[in-house]
Amino acid sequence: MKHEVDVLVIGAGPGGSSAAKAAAEAGASVLLIEKRQEIGSPVRCGEGVAMDWLRELGIPPDQRWIAHEVDGARLVSPCGHVMTMDARRAGNETGFVVERDAFDRALASAAVRAGSDIWMRAMATGAKMVGDRMSRVKVDRFGDDVTIVPKVVIAADGFESRVCGWAGLNSRLALKDIDSCLQYRLVGIETDERWNDFYVGSMAPGGYVWVFHKGEGVANVGIGVGAHRLRKKGDVRMYLDRFIASHPELSRGRAVDIVAGAVSTSLPMDTTVKGNLMLVGDAARMIDALTGGGVVHAIRSGQIAGAIAGEHLQGGQPMDRYERAWRREIEDLLVRNYVAKEKAVNLSDETFDRIIGALCELEVSHITTGEILAAVAKVAPEFMAELEDLL
Ligand SMILES: Cc1cc2nc3c(=O)[nH]c(=O)nc-3n(C[C@H](O)[C@H](O)[C@H](O)COP(=O)(O)OP(=O)(O)OC[C@H]3O[C@@H](n4cnc5c(N)ncnc54)[C@H](O)[C@@H]3O)c2cc1C
Repeated sequence: MKHEVDVLVIGAGPGGSSAAKAAAEAGASVLLIEKRQEIGSPVRCGEGVAMDWLRELGIPPDQRWIAHEVDGARLVSPCGHVMTMDARRAGNETGFVVERDAFDRALASAAVRAGSDIWMRAMATGAKMVGDRMSRVKVDRFGDDVTIVPKVVIAADGFESRVCGWAGLNSRLALKDIDSCLQYRLVGIETDERWNDFYVGSMAPGGYVWVFHKGEGVANVGIGVGAHRLRKKGDVRMYLDRFIASHPELSRGRAVDIVAGAVSTSLPMDTTVKGNLMLVGDAARMIDALTGGGVVHAIRSGQIAGAIAGEHLQGGQPMDRYERAWRREIEDLLVRNYVAKEKAVNLSDETFDRIIGALCELEVSHITTGEILAAVAKVAPEFMAELEDLL
């Protein structure tokens, strides 16, 4: 079977659905394919999303996917110093904990309403390249082989992207640029659900522990550990179990859901456009290396790629504009937070205690990397030589 389409979008996560919607709105015929049988499920996410960023992306809050709204975030040092970043101090980091499956379904539905077609249980299995162009994509749809003939391809196939490889783009990651993650949804805990908590230090080498509340007595409690710090199978679980056991307010909870996965903590890929192919979201390594958050970057890069695909098809504008367009908006933040991550993973517990302890004393107006560094310069100038390049 052969199927011709203007824009083929591979993967119906936030990046793919946003790309499909934008391309359909720009007048293209769009096919969005998803290998799973249910959008967004199983969930592989801490489900924390900044509310102001969503608004900026044109996604108004919707009770169908908001699980819980928090007042802000708290950063907890190894010895227990707590820096609270409330709405005033946290700026657009204050946010929602979402139901990620419902959120992803809402984005895919918006793409369909904008005119995109969608195929579920449809997995891209290979591609034919003619020069730089991806001229054909093979899809397994319910066990049937279908050949798609696309004018433009948008790869939104996430962290484990195979589409990049088919196009000859190198998306390999160094171990130090991968965090292995494990998360339990704990029910029956006794924590303060007004805040999402981040714990840093050697309890999560090369990463951190998060407690993202989904309501009273329920939270996603997860850990990311630098893959290069793992010695044997089961280490990530050992770190998470040990953390929970040492926090009585959490240890009385029981896990009703377990999520395992990985996030890239690398720089974004050097090349995200090749011929008629654009990469968005995790497939392009657009996760924030410091926080592990990637939902909003996937959405924004998808929106940009979809719009550029539409303009390219209508008026012939070159697609390599995509490279410049997303970098103009997102790259500075990704690079700065990558550099910050490279520093943070080498800090000792004592250093974390000193910096966070000192930050607790300060009036920081907005919690941005720049603000934090300016504060560190005041209270712990001896660290500044190391952190200078971030400023
Ligand atoms: C444990 C964990 C916790 C996280 N917590 C957060 C958080 O709290 N906040 C946050 O912002 N980010 C978080 N992230 C990162 C976030 O989940 C990703 O950045 C985001 O999902 C990226 O969206 P995407 O559309 O690029 O990719 P994905 O959401 O991964 O979507 C890719 C889609 O492509 C489909 N697909 C893959 N291959 C094919 C194929 N060959 N054919 C067809 N379909 C295919 C997949 O099934 C999937 O639906 C977390 C990640 C992990 C692993």
